Amino acid sequence: MNKRYLVALDQGTTSSRAVVFNLEGHMLCAASREFPQIYPQPGWVEHDPMDILSSQIEALRQAVRQAEIDPAEIAAIGITNQRETTLVWERDTGKCVHNAIVWQCRRTASMVDELKENGYGDIIRQKTGLVPDAYFSGTKIKWILDELNLHEKAEKGGLCFGTVDSFLCWHLAEGSPHVTDATNAGRTMLFNLHTQDWDEELLQMLNIPRAMLPKVVDTAQVVGWLKEDILGVKIPIAALAGDQHAALFGQACFERGMVKNTYGTGCFMLMNIGEEFKLSQHGLITTLAWRLNGKPTYAFEGSVFVAGAAIQWLRDEMKLISSAAESEQVALSVENSGGVYLVPAFTGMGAPYWDMYTRGTLVGMTRGTGRAHIVRAALESIAFQSRDLFHAMVQDGGMESPALRVDGGASANQFLMQLQSDLIGLPVVRPKVLETTALGAALLAGLAVGLYDNLEETAAGWHAENTFNPKMKEEKKEKLLKGWHRAVDAARYWAKQEE
Ligand code: ADP
Repeated sequence: MNKRYLVALDQGTTSSRAVVFNLEGHMLCAASREFPQIYPQPGWVEHDPMDILSSQIEALRQAVRQAEIDPAEIAAIGITNQRETTLVWERDTGKCVHNAIVWQCRRTASMVDELKENGYGDIIRQKTGLVPDAYFSGTKIKWILDELNLHEKAEKGGLCFGTVDSFLCWHLAEGSPHVTDATNAGRTMLFNLHTQDWDEELLQMLNIPRAMLPKVVDTAQVVGWLKEDILGVKIPIAALAGDQHAALFGQACFERGMVKNTYGTGCFMLMNIGEEFKLSQHGLITTLAWRLNGKPTYAFEGSVFVAGAAIQWLRDEMKLISSAAESEQVALSVENSGGVYLVPAFTGMGAPYWDMYTRGTLVGMTRGTGRAHIVRAALESIAFQSRDLFHAMVQDGGMESPALRVDGGASANQFLMQLQSDLIGLPVVRPKVLETTALGAALLAGLAVGLYDNLEETAAGWHAENTFNPKMKEEKKEKLLKGWHRAVDAARYWAKQEE
């Protein structure tokens, strides 16, 4: 039977998706299943592990059915997943001892403060590339072991920890392999990027026994075979990757200096920085881009907390627009924002500012300021924040970038993409397939089973659709940026006065 398709399982925070691609990287069909979010207390977020599993299997079956393909023609499956979300299950029964603790969950924030107070901050940063935070899996594992009094059982090898990739492999693959890939391992705060192994000192720091940890494999590698009862045939599961890492791969950012930005609720920007580990001076995270044939490639990662969310805010709270898409036409109905700047720091600001106390600020209004100016200022704020992140990456990486590759819901906004290109002075390129996370997982799986010989061949699966080239005069750009940074200063000043 001809192997003509690749399938990605994209297990996200609110839904599980399955996407069928042909070998040229064209998307045939996608299916998606939402599942409930569980909020046991303010700031706590959980998922029922069985919801994760069943929604993922249903999405897979539906996508294959809708694509009207013979499952025997699927060459390989790649899994990509919400990162850091933590599951612990019994080795002999596979039963989870607790709900999945989701990456957003803040229940271990005080544990992280304690680690920092005890001087672990710098050790964590040097070894894992991460800025210590409750997002990462390490403190979540400790919380489960402490809370349920399971240290002894874990010590004896009776428990397994896994992120979502690992959990899915255990349940979907024949023989239940206990594995995770290096990109996912790198989000636990327990994985040493230099040795590419779990780190003894970090394990001791959180009192987590090595016996419960999965074997760390490459990002593209056959880790097992899909159980026959799921699609009626056995198919190699050939890639595991955290979602942002898969997206960087799906954007074919294979060369040092290449950057992708995803414009969703927030923005996630990653830059390929090559094979050498490097730390940022601007509070960016250093993470694995991927690990292929045992060889790590690194990336800088930074995020904009409020991006598309500012547009949702205009729509839902301010009622200035009726849909996110309308923001474009409204912004273009005025020549400029009339000196208005919106700093949407609703929850503080991340890299390169790192100020958790800053709050949202609107400056520069006059009697002539109208709705269109404010809408325009909100879109501009997404481009300004992304520009500052991009600038920090280029500075810290010490390398030029050829272009910015974009995806995510708000990348549909032409005004925003043109402004982004103007502000970074480089082309902004939007690909045909905006499901870059799924595409990345599929291409990684294709690489693992030998459908592509090397990264150049893999890159042929990425197709550009729109390119936005910089048009703005340097003088105007400098003026806009100066105004934006003054607005950020004003927002920070406001927050400081409150302290
Ligand atoms: P997520 O995966 O974070 O849910 P999506 O990639 O689905 O996000 O993108 C949705 C976000 O993009 C929303 O916050 C929405 O406000 C914003 N958005 C969608 N379309 C547009 C548009 N045309 N212009 C500006 N923002 C948009």
